[in-house]
Amino acid sequence: MMQEKLKRLGLKLPILPTTTVGSFPKPPHLIEARRKFDAKQIRAGELRLIEEQTTREWVSVQEEIGLDVLVDGEMYRGDMATHFANNLDGFKISGLVRSYGNRYYRKPIIAGEVRWRGPITVDWWRFTQGLTKKPVKGMITGPYTMMDWSFNEHYPSRRDACLALAEALHEEVKVLAKAGAKIIQVDEPAISARPEELPEFAVEAMEIITKGVDAYFICHICYGAFEFIYPGMLKLPIDNFDLETSNSELDLVELLRRHPFTKDFSFGVVDVHSHITEDITTVEQRIQRALEVLKPEQLWIDPDCGLKTRTRGETMEKLRVMVDAAKKVRKSLFGNSP
Ligand SMILES: [Zn+2]
Repeated sequence: MMQEKLKRLGLKLPILPTTTVGSFPKPPHLIEARRKFDAKQIRAGELRLIEEQTTREWVSVQEEIGLDVLVDGEMYRGDMATHFANNLDGFKISGLVRSYGNRYYRKPIIAGEVRWRGPITVDWWRFTQGLTKKPVKGMITGPYTMMDWSFNEHYPSRRDACLALAEALHEEVKVLAKAGAKIIQVDEPAISARPEELPEFAVEAMEIITKGVDAYFICHICYGAFEFIYPGMLKLPIDNFDLETSNSELDLVELLRRHPFTKDFSFGVVDVHSHITEDITTVEQRIQRALEVLKPEQLWIDPDCGLKTRTRGETMEKLRVMVDAAKKVRKSLFGNSP
């Protein structure tokens, strides 16, 4: 079913398409430029040129490695929730809040009615798609995660906040699709934070996001407590789940054996938290294991999560091994034909 949708959208992808989750590491000169921009030492235009140049470099890297579906690499983003909060009406940003360990970050505050002010991601999507013939994913942070990671000072409940965010982000999805994005990823790392909220309103929020938009929707989830939201999460009206599977205590394959998976599945085959690059045999085995419970035409191959915490070299090595392993498995499935 999903394959038909891809075909209808005019997307020609090989079997076991390879992609990445979204972020790539920022080079030191970009980090420095962002610091200078925050300190008002350089202008937005100057920062933008560096972000564009770095995006160009990452597009070349992805093409050279041979990935099938590309991303912009998120060179222009700080935190994935704050980036959207800054660009939606109704938000304020807090002072520094301690997360875990000694990490501090600024948390979004919902201080008024959340409204879509204008395109947030379209400009970067268009810029990146203009650099390549391969499809580039549109990417938004989902309403549930935006709600869960923000202080809510305005709405009476988590449900109300989440659904208001969904309405606002639906506008973003519409303009992304209108600009030509055929694959749209909704990042919902927090969706298993409170499993009871999935049927209560997370599904409804995703219905609002995707309603009437003709695109292939991927939902990325990490930090997953999948055992508590599976198989209920299959009710989310999306085409493809992108899950962290390599760095997981949970044996997802066993879970899928008990309840067959009814969507496409982007299977994380390299661990983004480790400096060590997996060898090709390990990655091949992970793909083969996924194929025990998924049909080849259901399966996409990618890393567990964004790669922003790895070095450029580690990122490239991991992606190369991943693409090579996918090619070997394709061959083993279909002989030498593509
Ligand atoms: Zn993730």
